[in-house]
Amino acid sequence: MRLVLFGAPGSGKGTQAAVLKQDLGIPHISTGDLLRAEIKAETELGKKAKSIMDAGQLLSDDIMLGIIEHRLGEPDAKPGFILDGYPRNLAQADALDKVLAKIGQPLDVVIKLDVPNEAILGRCVIRFKAEHRPDDNPDTVKKRLDIYADQTAPVAEFYAKRDKLRVVDGVGELDEVTARIKAVLESTKAASA
Ligand code: AMP
Repeated sequence: MRLVLFGAPGSGKGTQAAVLKQDLGIPHISTGDLLRAEIKAETELGKKAKSIMDAGQLLSDDIMLGIIEHRLGEPDAKPGFILDGYPRNLAQADALDKVLAKIGQPLDVVIKLDVPNEAILGRCVIRFKAEHRPDDNPDTVKKRLDIYADQTAPVAEFYAKRDKLRVVDGVGELDEVTARIKAVLESTKAASA
């Protein structure tokens, strides 16, 4: 299964991906996690990324494409993957299509977790207290939501046109949302069988 979990920051993509990767036996590829690992390891990329991420801005498409191409080429991604945090704009969606076409592994489905902004802000406050992610402070979250609305939300339309988009209600208990996602995955599997 080759899947993108799509949605605003704080919509629960990472939490759901952590559950689904066990079930599906495929890796969870989060570009945010990959970048945070670079920051932790104090690499050149990490140093460059930190100020951009702390400000809630996006890294350049070129840098992100390099990261994602490299990660998708690793052996554990052969049977499939759950992408989280990529693509984040139309140029990235286009680039991903091309990378996947090149390796003959097109996406099966893009699942959008739908969560209203008020709930997102509340969740990020909780995550800020628990994980101390600098970009989860309320002002930066508002900036990230603006960038999401401007640049990332149109990506849903990109996949809707290709009949790859499924929208799931992301509000509710963790396992309720997981069950909704699994129902979509089942119908995707059935449709491609
Ligand atoms: P996330 O954990 O997905 O919310 O990502 C945290 C931050 O990493 C984002 O606010 C961006 O600064 C950066 N980032 C992650 N994925 C991307 C991407 N696909 N394009 C540009 N920047 C990204």
